[in-house]
Amino acid sequence: MHRSAQTPVFDGHNDVLLRLWKGGLDGASRRFLDGEEAGHIDLPRARQGGLAGGLCAIYVPSERVKDANGNWPTPARTEALDVTLAMAGILTRIERDSAGAVRICRSAADIEAAIASGVFASVMHIEGAEAIGADLDLLYVLHAAGLRTLGPVWSRPNIFAFGVPFEFPSTPDIGPGLSAAGADLIRACNELRIMVDLSHMNEKGFWDIARLSNAPLVASHSNVQGICKHSRNLTDRQLDAIRDSHGLAGINYGTSFLCEDGQKHPDMALSQMVRHIDYMVERMGIDHVALGSDFDGTSIPAAMRDVRDLPKLVDALVAGGYDGDDLDKITHKNWIRVLRETWGA
Ligand SMILES: [Zn+2]
Repeated sequence: MHRSAQTPVFDGHNDVLLRLWKGGLDGASRRFLDGEEAGHIDLPRARQGGLAGGLCAIYVPSERVKDANGNWPTPARTEALDVTLAMAGILTRIERDSAGAVRICRSAADIEAAIASGVFASVMHIEGAEAIGADLDLLYVLHAAGLRTLGPVWSRPNIFAFGVPFEFPSTPDIGPGLSAAGADLIRACNELRIMVDLSHMNEKGFWDIARLSNAPLVASHSNVQGICKHSRNLTDRQLDAIRDSHGLAGINYGTSFLCEDGQKHPDMALSQMVRHIDYMVERMGIDHVALGSDFDGTSIPAAMRDVRDLPKLVDALVAGGYDGDDLDKITHKNWIRVLRETWGA
């Protein structure tokens, strides 16, 4: 059965706010709502491709030059604060300017209602909490503004934890675990029921959070070490822990996280993505596997121009034997289930 045309996709990670912010604050919300040539996602193209919504990351980019130790430099708090508020502002204005076409969802019921009525279901997410101080005041303010998920780190260290550097071949076991401030952050996220995202976390931090957190373990946009030994990918033990916590992992469309040699291969077949999904399904079961495109944040296969070609991935899943409820779980139901469990509503 061919179902791609009517299969909605809810996705665990995109960087459209970063792209809009780089293009200048002036008219940023209109560029998303009216569409533009650049990048992977805007509202008209999302509708064409069946992208019903997803986690929209607030990410403060590093300088393009690595430091003397080969690590990406961590932005200063004041700079991170400016950029974080600017991107939160862009998303908030998109919702206001959209005349109901985009919603910042605060509950799983919000997401379901938005998808059912053709409203783009965005979730405000932070990837790298450099803007938040050890006092955590901003975490509470952003939660009130709609923040519902947070990755403590991008692939660089900050006061909370140690983001895993991009290495190949490498396990994610690089660097120390959570700091005391990081443990406080996780406890506060649990209290506020903000989802903690483990993509970009190094392995020691992952296990610290696995011990500390009372919520399902989630890696929103990470693939498997068993196929591609990239430091950003998950070990079998990590996949087992995600399964045991009733969490999920979302497949990242970046070719360097998918291909066995850890290199960018634009000509990669979409079936390579299905291989990672098969591996995860075999290891964790169908309830713990989802999508985490990294649209506007990574180099995707040339077979997908942008979000408009999402139905090609759904076709590849169907060709790989996924259909009916299994296909729905991978494309959106697992995300909604895990967010409902995490958020309590
Ligand atoms: Zn990322």
